[in-house]
Order: sequence, then structure tokens, then C-alpha cells
Amino acid sequence: MSGHISFFDSVGNYVDKAASFTDIPPGLIEQIKACNLVLRLRFPVRVGDDYEVIEAYRVQHSHHRLPTKGGIRYAESVDQDEVMALAALMTYKCALVDVPFGGAKGGIKINPSKYTIGQLESITRRYTTELVKKNFIGPGIDVPAPDYGTGPREMAWILDTYQAFRHGEIDSIGCVTGKPVTQNGIRGRAEATGRGVFYGIRECMRHEDDMKKVGLTKGIEGKTMVVQGLGNVGSNTALISQREGDVRIIGLSEREGSIYNPKGIDVEQLLAYRKANGTIIGFPGTEHIGGPLAALELECDILVPAALENQITSENAPRIKAKIIAEAANGPITADADPILIQKGCIILPDFYINAGGVTVSYFEWLKNLSHHRFGRLENRFHHDQFNGFVNKIEEMTGKTVDKREREFLTRGGTEIELVNSGLEDTMITAYNQIRDTLKDHPNITDIRTAAFVCSLKKIASDYISMGIFP
Ligand code: GLU
Repeated sequence: MSGHISFFDSVGNYVDKAASFTDIPPGLIEQIKACNLVLRLRFPVRVGDDYEVIEAYRVQHSHHRLPTKGGIRYAESVDQDEVMALAALMTYKCALVDVPFGGAKGGIKINPSKYTIGQLESITRRYTTELVKKNFIGPGIDVPAPDYGTGPREMAWILDTYQAFRHGEIDSIGCVTGKPVTQNGIRGRAEATGRGVFYGIRECMRHEDDMKKVGLTKGIEGKTMVVQGLGNVGSNTALISQREGDVRIIGLSEREGSIYNPKGIDVEQLLAYRKANGTIIGFPGTEHIGGPLAALELECDILVPAALENQITSENAPRIKAKIIAEAANGPITADADPILIQKGCIILPDFYINAGGVTVSYFEWLKNLSHHRFGRLENRFHHDQFNGFVNKIEEMTGKTVDKREREFLTRGGTEIELVNSGLEDTMITAYNQIRDTLKDHPNITDIRTAAFVCSLKKIASDYISMGIFP
């Protein structure tokens, strides 16, 4: 919550602001904003000799495209408002990156570290059973995925439970995404959100004019970055930005506090250090600068809040010094902090764009599941032979020889991970440029978030209109 506005209402306020730049009828905007279905569950789990009542939700925000899609989070912060807001963001996110799904989200109000693996399995299986009973899950209905506090292990439990009820349903493996690769998952899904964050920031920084406005040179290479949260999204963003973008990671924060080294922190070594010691504090060469929020206030080019919502508020926003903020988490900037940062001239890459890599690769996984084959399997050998033929012809025509390594590179078909990453890269680049074009078309829009909402709204509205529901 930010001030008196709920998270769900603050998403609605952003939509209203964006809607004023479109000619979408107000009634249709109301329909787009509304949460279509909210499932509120209470079920017991056995803990020791007693039982505990578990509070859980699944929200399907919009059915303009089916199935609905979105992660399931396990966190103590979960409540109906949060799940509704996150489900709504999924709708706008999918539309923005042309993933043909409606938005959904699930949540279980638990701190997973307080339960044994066996208890977590019982909770996950019981939750899935409830979703099956209510017809709230299925490859054509609603397809969950990982989110904060869940991962491939939970997705495997969900798949197994679903299949126990739907034995013989041919597309049942598409009932959930983010599964382990060995359980019909797809390569590249685990790091997809962080990789997408990297592609999005890189694309934004490619535009010289935009960078000039914030006093930066073009290009991500050599720029400084601070990352808050070293979960799946934060750690992959930091790792990939360092390895593939030559970015200098100068600050990092986790639950236990923030660390700083202006010369740069080796993320791989830092992650290994945290695994061994249970903390990032004390990592050689770094200074402990304060609690988990301290890193947010460091002077840097790019700030990546990748923890939970409501981290940058009207209280700390005036002290933020970053030029670009990439909202890797959902809702890390509160509604009252947003204008303060814009006023300061900060570029904000909004959550429903910058963290869309996860759902994008989930879509690829779902397509793989429904097609029942691995991408590239049918055509790779064919392309290899065809490209070999081209190279032979070129050699024949030019009288020159293509060396062995070059020939190998030119004639091989893409592997699954290469195809996934190139599809993800293309998606993030295309969506960014759509947002940028919208900004150009609407000189009165001054921030990327509003422009991104305009893009999503137009696509969703056109779906409704073509369904004949609205004239
Ligand atoms: N939980 C992720 C998100 O917020 C991924 C959702 C999905 O893959 O369906 O976008």
C-alpha cells in the first residue's frame, strides 16, 4: 500500500491516466480495469500434531485472451488486494509484449522458509486440487508459473497434481509453466526475467538522444548498476548485465543489508559467498553501508529494485540518485514516489515492461508443450543441409574456401536455448520501440509508464472491439 491508495487502485490510477490519451470509451476502460474472477481459499495443512489454516488466492483479471496467465507467490505479504494488483499487471504485461494471454496471479500467505519441504508440497498440492475443483487451472483456462517464493520445484508439484486429476488429457503438461527442464520445461525459463531486464535496459540505453537527457552516453557497457534483491530476478539481472553487458555492479542489497564497492563486485563470487555464509555482508572488497534499503540511495547510472513492491516511497524517493530505474520487481515504486522521480528527470522502465521476460518465455514453454516437441527438432537437420549447400555454392562461385569453424557456425541450426533467447531479445526490443513510438506520437506523455499503458490499453481494447462486445 502507498499512503491511502491500495496497490490495485494505484494500478487503476495509472490506467486512468493513460486512458486520457486514448479515445477508448470509458465503459470499456472500466471493463479492462476490473478483476473478472477472484477465488479466495482457506484450507488446512497439518503442522506437527495440529492444523494450520492457509490463506490463498487466485485471481483471473482479464479474459480478453485465453488462457489467463501469471505466477503464484508464497509470501507473508499476500492479500487479496496484492494478488488483484499483480493479476492486473499481468494483463497489461502480456498485451505489451504480445503474449496472447489474459492476466492472472495466485498467492499463498506463507513464509516458505518456516515450512519443511514436505509441508510445502502438501500446501502446493492442496492449492492445486482446489484450483482443479473450481476449474481455475488448465492449459486453455489458467496457467500458473513461478513468482516470488516459488520455483520449478513447486511447478512440478502442480503439474503432477493436475495430471492425477486429468489423466489422459493430451495437453495437460501445458497447465503450468516454469517447470524443470526435465519435466517438460524449457531451457532459459529460469533466467528469463533477469535476461529480459538486461535486454530492456540495453535497448533503452541504445538511444543516444534519450541518454543525453539524463546526462549519460549511449550504450550499457561500462555503466554502473545497483541491484536490490538477489532472488532469481535480481541475481540473473546482475550476472547477465555483468557478463554480457560489461556493466559495473557497484552495489547490492539483500534482507541482511547493503554492500558497496565503487570498483565493482563480482556477482558470481558474491552469490557463492552468500551460499556459503548465509549473508552478503563481509564479502571481500565491499563496504557494509546499511540496511536493505540503503543501496537504493547510491549514486549510480542504473538502479534495479528486484525485491518486492513498495520499496521506493515518497519518503526515500527524494534521495534516489539513479538516472535509470528498471522495475524488475512488480510495483517497487509507490504511486506517490513515481512523480517525484519523474520530476527529478529519472527514466523509469516500468515493471510490466521490464520484467516481462518471464512470461514471454513461459509462453514459449506453453507453445512447446502444446506442440509436443522441442523447438528446432524438425527443422535443424534440414537447415544444416540447406546452409551447407549455400556455403558450397559460395565456395564454388568465389573460388575461396570457408574455414571449418566458420562453416560450422554458418550451417548449424539454433539450439533450444538460442531460439528462446533470440525470441526473448526480439520481444523486449520490439516492445520498447513500440513504447518509444507512442511517446513520440503523444508529446504530452512525459513518462515511459504512461506510454506503455497506452500501448497495452490499445491492444486490449481492440481485442474487445473485435469480439463485438463493444462497438
Ligand atoms: N511471475 C512472473 C511475472 O510476474 C511470470 C509469470 C508467468 O510466467 O506466467 O511476470
